[in-house]
Amino acid sequence: MSDEDKAKILIVDDVPGKLMAIAAVLESLDQTIVTVTSGTEALRRLLTDDFAVILLDVNMPGLDGFETAALIRQRKRSEHTPIIFLTAYPDDAYAEKGYSLGAVDYILTPASPEVLRSKVAVFVDLYHKTQQIKKQADHRVLLAQEHAARLAAERANAAKSQFLTNMSHELRTPMTAIIGMTDLALFEEVSPQVREYLAAVKTNAHLLLELLNEILDLSKLEAGKFVLDSAPFSLRKVVHELTQTFGYRAGEKALQFNATVADEAPDTLIADSLRLRQVLINLLTNAIKFTDQGSVTLDVAVESIGSREAWLRFSVTDTGIGISDEDQDRIFAPFTQVDATTSRRHAGAGLGLAIASELIRVMGGFRSIKSEVGRGSAFTFTVPLAYSKEVPAAEPERTAGPVMLNGAANGPTLKVLLAEDTPTNQMLVIHTLKKRGHAVEVAADGRAAVILAGEKTFDVILMDLQMPHMDGFEATALIRGIPGREHVPIIALTAHTMVGDRERCLAAGMEEYLPKPLDLRHLVEAVERHGQLAEARGANEG
Ligand code: ADP
Repeated sequence: MSDEDKAKILIVDDVPGKLMAIAAVLESLDQTIVTVTSGTEALRRLLTDDFAVILLDVNMPGLDGFETAALIRQRKRSEHTPIIFLTAYPDDAYAEKGYSLGAVDYILTPASPEVLRSKVAVFVDLYHKTQQIKKQADHRVLLAQEHAARLAAERANAAKSQFLTNMSHELRTPMTAIIGMTDLALFEEVSPQVREYLAAVKTNAHLLLELLNEILDLSKLEAGKFVLDSAPFSLRKVVHELTQTFGYRAGEKALQFNATVADEAPDTLIADSLRLRQVLINLLTNAIKFTDQGSVTLDVAVESIGSREAWLRFSVTDTGIGISDEDQDRIFAPFTQVDATTSRRHAGAGLGLAIASELIRVMGGFRSIKSEVGRGSAFTFTVPLAYSKEVPAAEPERTAGPVMLNGAANGPTLKVLLAEDTPTNQMLVIHTLKKRGHAVEVAADGRAAVILAGEKTFDVILMDLQMPHMDGFEATALIRGIPGREHVPIIALTAHTMVGDRERCLAAGMEEYLPKPLDLRHLVEAVERHGQLAEARGANEG
């Protein structure tokens, strides 16, 4: 037992010899024994210490035992401390007085060592049990306090996530306008100087949008509102695309770039390829950002493989600046960077790794890092991915070559119905499509869109999902029910970048899904592709 855990026993007797004798008897109890030779001294000790039991001689000069006991009882700290009187006189009147003063026992001295020891042991035991109960009660109070604090923190965190989600949604809407209008302006004939300014606006607007998307992702991940998509894709194709992008970026810094996929790794994975790409892009971007010479490598290995699922290990290794041991855990927290000084060389918000780390967790995997300052880093994550032995259907080929927005359409001019309630977005779409020679009619909500689609024939319908009175899902379902409108191509436009939206759109009978802020080239490309397909179908049917 440590000294701190030992119970204290106070022995009060004016005869030092008797004190020593009693202390010797009690020594084998292995507790802390305190001896004093007067009532006053005992009272002084009781001001600072708690005792398991007090052995109090009755006959003492100055304050006698009874007087001392009365004073002990008056004090809050010692009002319940057990007192055993010791006396050489076998007098009943004495004993009664003692008990009336709150004594718990009365021992005639000299007492047999066994009796004395066992009587004291009872109180020592009682003391320890009381302490234990007190400790447990304290522990319970502590747990309850911790629980309350945790609840409060969770609530505050949920409020923070909600705020971030709302804020980034709100900010995306004006960003859509800024990016779209800049795009439109760039298609006009402007002086080289103005073109340069506009290009700078565009680059910065995209940076801001990227940051908003990151905040939105992180708040969704933190709020547990993140759902992963699941669709077949080719692992080697993803790695090939990353090699093209990052091979080029590495080349710009004169770095080597290598990527390998283990032969035994299945090619057709069924998972969220966008999110897997996002994690890899983040790690590769960092690897190149923090490496000035040497190489960056992406490796995909098989950790284990079952009949339907494989655990794949992705490693991104660089020969860059490295990360110290202390910083290795820190960098996965949001908004943290190793070098957070304002003069730091590398741009970034410190959100990338936090998001990557959360995404890996949501995918059911785990990550690890090995790094040495000055030698480089290896970020590794292992995730379970469903696979199939079938080859995924090739994605439809997009129109060859970039669409020139300010030229007329190569194919037929189209009649387009735009269901969209935001004036800026209306303006963007109308201007863009008109430049291509298409005719656009606007419906400001879902209900108006259904009426217009019933009255007139359109080649393509662009459908915003969130509109007053009737949303895009309901409007689409109603339009599909109008005779002759079963096949008109409907393309969804949405500011929601919630995973699962694509599936909901397709399930509601829409052909395609374009996220906002709208990429005007994608818009034109999608409208013209669907317009042409519909025309070809019409020609076949007719
Ligand atoms: P950032 O946008 O700042 O890059 P991240 O969350 O992606 O945010 O990374 C956080 C920090 O971790 C970086 O600022 C950098 O200090 C450190 N870091 C990340 N990857 C590497 C790497 N490959 N080599 C060295 N340091 C790195």
